[in-house]
Amino acid sequence: MEPETLKVFFPPGSEEQAERFFDRYDFKGIVANGDGAYSKRALRGYSTRTCRFCGRSYPIAPFSDYSHLLPKMIGNSNLYSDFECDNCNKAFSELEDDLANYLGISRSITGFSPGKKTVGFKGKRLSAKFRSFIGENILILAPEDVLGTPDQLSFRYTKNPFTPVRVYRALLKSALSLISDTEIHGNYPLALKYLGGKDYLTEGAVIGGYQLAFRINFPLHVYRFEKKRPDDRIPTHVFAFYFQNRIIVFPLPFHRQDLPLLGKDYQFLLPPACFVDEEDRDNAMPIPFVRDMSSAVEIGDEEETIRLSVDPKAMENACVYDPATGKIEPGSRSFGQAKYLVLVKQGLVADPAALLAFIKEVMEG
Ligand SMILES: [Zn+2]
Repeated sequence: MEPETLKVFFPPGSEEQAERFFDRYDFKGIVANGDGAYSKRALRGYSTRTCRFCGRSYPIAPFSDYSHLLPKMIGNSNLYSDFECDNCNKAFSELEDDLANYLGISRSITGFSPGKKTVGFKGKRLSAKFRSFIGENILILAPEDVLGTPDQLSFRYTKNPFTPVRVYRALLKSALSLISDTEIHGNYPLALKYLGGKDYLTEGAVIGGYQLAFRINFPLHVYRFEKKRPDDRIPTHVFAFYFQNRIIVFPLPFHRQDLPLLGKDYQFLLPPACFVDEEDRDNAMPIPFVRDMSSAVEIGDEEETIRLSVDPKAMENACVYDPATGKIEPGSRSFGQAKYLVLVKQGLVADPAALLAFIKEVMEG
């Protein structure tokens, strides 16, 4: 992760926030899919491997072929690490289940936007408690879950259970994977212990970030920021994970130089959403959040509302299908009486009867 220059765009209205943030933080680098430093070829051989997280070396600790540097579920396709043993990997993948449940379904439906040519429909049922179906090319909604108007649809569902501190640890593990061994052992021994289950925080395990419009679908990339002045009362390192239609900002806790600063006035500055693409910037409509993830109490009923903005041009193609008569009426006037609302990707061609059979199968088993 070498420092480099990168031209980014900020959403309108966040210029001041950007100024405040970059007055105190430097941009230190970016990791994205395809980074050669984390390719399979860059991995060291087994016999020289030591696990960063438990400190055990081969052969006392087993190392399998390829550990993912960052979770696959956030879009990591080809970044690997050679410093995570199989035992730790197994423990972390259990934390990632909490992360997956916390992220909910928006990651599954991101990319469901017009403009991508697709044929046919297929997909897998989600395990979320959800009366709707999401496949790669098709979204089936029960009208009782839908709020808003047809061109500004939103719908609500209940997430699968997750424990906030386990989500926090999954993110901590990812952030700790993106700094050097020297830095970890020199500056973050407490963070390693916290990751291993030591509870130092009853509050203050804070994350933040932005939920972006549905049409945004970032490939995974992670920014690293570092504070300019060692005695500034802010976390030394801040990571911002960009993936799908989210930005999750993670201030790395327990840096040695931050410990004496904890307490009064120590604060977390949310960096602005940064876009390398102006069109993404214009479409993103970021909604910021900050959340304390310290709690070890499982949350079983968190609801999330997903906002879908449907292209008004797509609505011109709307029609209502009556299976009783087999008739297809153009327009969206009688959506209110529909049993299901079905959105398909542009370019999908389906025979209404076959589509209906598919809907019955996935929704009614
Ligand atoms: Zn280990």
